[in-house]
Amino acid sequence: MPIPFVEPFRIKVVEPIKQTTRAERQRFLAEAHNNLFGVAAEDVFIDFLTDSGTNAMSDRQWSAMMVGDESYAGARSFAHFEKAVQEVLGFPFVLPTHQGRGAEGVLFKTLVSAGQCVPNNRHFDTTQANLMALGANPVDLAVAEAADPIRDLPFKGNMDLEKLEQFIVETGADNIPIGMLTITNNSAAGQPVSLANIKATAEIYHRHGIPFFIDACRFAENAWFIKNREPGYADRSVAEIVLETFSYADGCTMSAKKDAIVNIGGFIACRDENLKLKLSERLIIQEGFITYGGLAGRDLEAVAVGLREGISEDYLDYRERHTRYLGEVLQSAGLSVYQPTGGHAVYVDAAQTLPHIPPAQFPGVALANMLYIEGGVRTVEIGSLMFSHPDPLTGEVIPAPNELVRFAIPRRVYTRSHLDYVGEVARIVANSADQIKGLQVTWAPELLRHFIARLAWL
Ligand SMILES: *Cc1c(COP(=O)(O)O)cnc(C)c1O
Repeated sequence: MPIPFVEPFRIKVVEPIKQTTRAERQRFLAEAHNNLFGVAAEDVFIDFLTDSGTNAMSDRQWSAMMVGDESYAGARSFAHFEKAVQEVLGFPFVLPTHQGRGAEGVLFKTLVSAGQCVPNNRHFDTTQANLMALGANPVDLAVAEAADPIRDLPFKGNMDLEKLEQFIVETGADNIPIGMLTITNNSAAGQPVSLANIKATAEIYHRHGIPFFIDACRFAENAWFIKNREPGYADRSVAEIVLETFSYADGCTMSAKKDAIVNIGGFIACRDENLKLKLSERLIIQEGFITYGGLAGRDLEAVAVGLREGISEDYLDYRERHTRYLGEVLQSAGLSVYQPTGGHAVYVDAAQTLPHIPPAQFPGVALANMLYIEGGVRTVEIGSLMFSHPDPLTGEVIPAPNELVRFAIPRRVYTRSHLDYVGEVARIVANSADQIKGLQVTWAPELLRHFIARLAWL
């Protein structure tokens, strides 16, 4: 058998993980009202809940943290952070935030008013909620292939350019204070967006006078896919592709907990100094002074190093192959894996895997819960618990575009044998798939309900 990939690092610090029994896990899940967000991390064996902030930092990041400058204003660590953002992303101005949603909150509260619309290929749950909390309308315009779990196409994360153009003409640019594009498209199975699509999206927004912001969380993985899949980019470095990506945008929001390989942090970057000043006002109220934005100096140091490590091609090659390997393992275990495998996660199509459970009974939650009960593997539903909503006109519940279970892979954390273990757990679940029951919500808040909703098995 050919070696599928090799980790381009060795392990210097280890963290023990604890196996539990099936009966214990059944009890833990019941105590958490059948919502995996409520299970203690200690009671999880392999945690694929999210790749956000769960990364293993390098020796260089840890040593940079030790020389963090904790001054309130003008810290040396801010200068290191600013220089890394300028060099890697190419934006002159940057404001740190505590994480991605902090960046979104500051940007949207500054630019967006109630009743206005913000297009995106697909909004992530926090961008969607940040806009809805302002009374604004997040609008998803991804290509139709994004919702197709089977066809193996290179850039299923793309914006549908015709729909975008039509949407802007119909809505009026005056009602669209900002246009977004999410790379990679997390809510569409982590699928990448091509540079041609990024450029064309920018052209449409700009022709209508709309500022263009990238939701940049996984810009490095997106650039890696461009290098490997888009004609004309094979010989360009990831660093160059990243700079070209952002050259078309007026700014970006970033969760550093993703491709900057840290445990906490985020930022807003932009080209316009006046906008930076406007954003600073809100930033100071919400996050903190403009040279720390809710982070410690040491956190800024870790981001500065992580941004550069995140675009290392050896690392990205391993990252993509590691993720793809999990996809292969789950597929051969009998789950229906969304094709092709995305950058940071494997998405299993729960609707195909559990065809007897309708969207209103949350097949994704059912599958995720069984993976936990059988093997202590924690994943997350990205389906109708997360995204279904009542139609504003009829009140009828519109299901999510897909019923997915996401296996998000923390960066540099799990080895291949961990992935093989998950494959065996998946096989146990797949073998009795027809016995699995659906669930109903017994209590939920209005926004971001999946985090704290309570459910019961049917
Ligand atoms: C994680 C994420 C966010 C929000 O970032 P947080 O750091 O979790 O607040 C926004 N957009 C996308 C695409 C994300 O993946």
